[in-house]
Amino acid sequence: MSRFYSIRFRLTATFLAIILAVMLLISLFLYSTLERYHMNNLLKHLERTGFLASEFLVGHLHGQIDTIRLSSLAENISRQADARVVFVDDQGQVVGDSVRVGGLLNQALEQEDVQHALEGEVSNSTTYSERIDSQIKQMAIPVKEDNDNVIGVIFLSTSLEEVQQTLADIRIFLFLATVLAMAVVGGGSVALARRFTGPLEELTMAARKMSEGKLDQHIEFSSEDEIGRLAEQFNVMARRLNYYTNNLKKFAADVAHEVRTPLTTMSLLTKSLKEHDMEPEQRKEFVDDLDQELDRLVALVNDLLELSKLEKDEIEHEEVNMNILLRDMVKENQYRFAHSGLDLIDIIPDQNLKVCAVPRQLRQVVSNLLDNALNYTPSGGTVTIALYKENGEVVTVVEDTGNGIPKEDQSFIFERFFRVDRARSREGGGTGLGLAIVSEIIAKHNGRVWVESEEGRGSSFYFALPAVEE
Ligand code: ADP
Repeated sequence: MSRFYSIRFRLTATFLAIILAVMLLISLFLYSTLERYHMNNLLKHLERTGFLASEFLVGHLHGQIDTIRLSSLAENISRQADARVVFVDDQGQVVGDSVRVGGLLNQALEQEDVQHALEGEVSNSTTYSERIDSQIKQMAIPVKEDNDNVIGVIFLSTSLEEVQQTLADIRIFLFLATVLAMAVVGGGSVALARRFTGPLEELTMAARKMSEGKLDQHIEFSSEDEIGRLAEQFNVMARRLNYYTNNLKKFAADVAHEVRTPLTTMSLLTKSLKEHDMEPEQRKEFVDDLDQELDRLVALVNDLLELSKLEKDEIEHEEVNMNILLRDMVKENQYRFAHSGLDLIDIIPDQNLKVCAVPRQLRQVVSNLLDNALNYTPSGGTVTIALYKENGEVVTVVEDTGNGIPKEDQSFIFERFFRVDRARSREGGGTGLGLAIVSEIIAKHNGRVWVESEEGRGSSFYFALPAVEE
């Protein structure tokens, strides 16, 4: 990725552009205000000085004009006002100049401002003075009699050097302030961008590693903001993916292991049948064993298919009357249980208890629990199916008086391929998947399944589903 597309670069560039624009605007405004202020001050000062001087001058511009006196007056005013002062008569002739040597005394002053003033207007302009080698501000003020007759002009000029120096200082100050603001904002935005993008870069790295198959990723984060939450969700996702992948690997290994046992037995049986001469009776025994192993394989494949079907799309649920479903199943299994010397009884109330479910899957749950009760209860025992409603749930119980399950194993029995007693389970045709299927079906129905059991006394398997109210 080009660094120009990175958030860090774009964030910093945007902040810098914004602060530059803001600083330029502020500087322009501030500079023009200050420039106007200083110029106005200067003009007011010249104007005030001019008007004061014009009051003096009115009496001196009649009759014989004493240029020496007027020049000395101009010099006095000039010293106080810090400006050159020139008096001009109504013909545009200089009759007093504060500059004695090289001044304009007795010369015609052909300045535009003077012409305007002779016409009765106050006039000012900015120009360059070779004499003092500087920009100057000049102003011409008419000297009027009481009847508004213009009898002369006061011409004032002052150097702009001081004002220009002040303005230059302001320009430097504004430039430095802009540079400083940009440095601070630039530094700040780089730090800010790093704070934001640091975890994002870590996330990208971790995601890349995951895409390469290294699923065991974890990101350290300390912030509680959006990026912190993203990192947290990423960790949860990585953990889950890791867990599922490990589970899948374990499941595949377990399946291979489960399939290998009957296949090995079948291979041995077939070899014996092929290589040895046997009595018909012994041969039948071998073929029966082969048949049994095949049944075991078929049962395993069926259970695996059932599990994979459960992982597929949702099937439409419908209203199921548990009373009818359980009574039917008790009836169907009665003979099988009696054949094994077991009593199968039911405690099912007449009241209709309904749930929303896939009927075939519910039958599968009850069937698996009944198969286990049959397999793990010695002859002479009793298996009871009960049904009741409690706290908005319809609860089904399959209770037996069989072997029971050791306490330490009870939390594992719903896991795939877990068996308390491997040999005994296999003998009874168990695949080790029956309770895993039960647990997944009930979870898909938003229900709960649990066991209460005591070794040597029996087990009770419960499953509860949300009741459908009449
Ligand atoms: P299996 O096919 O081995 O029966 P399940 O998943 O149905 O597999 O059961 C897991 C294990 O839980 C069984 O191997 C058995 O040890 C134990 N178990 C299940 N039901 C009962 C029961 N009713 N009584 C005693 N043990 C049971």
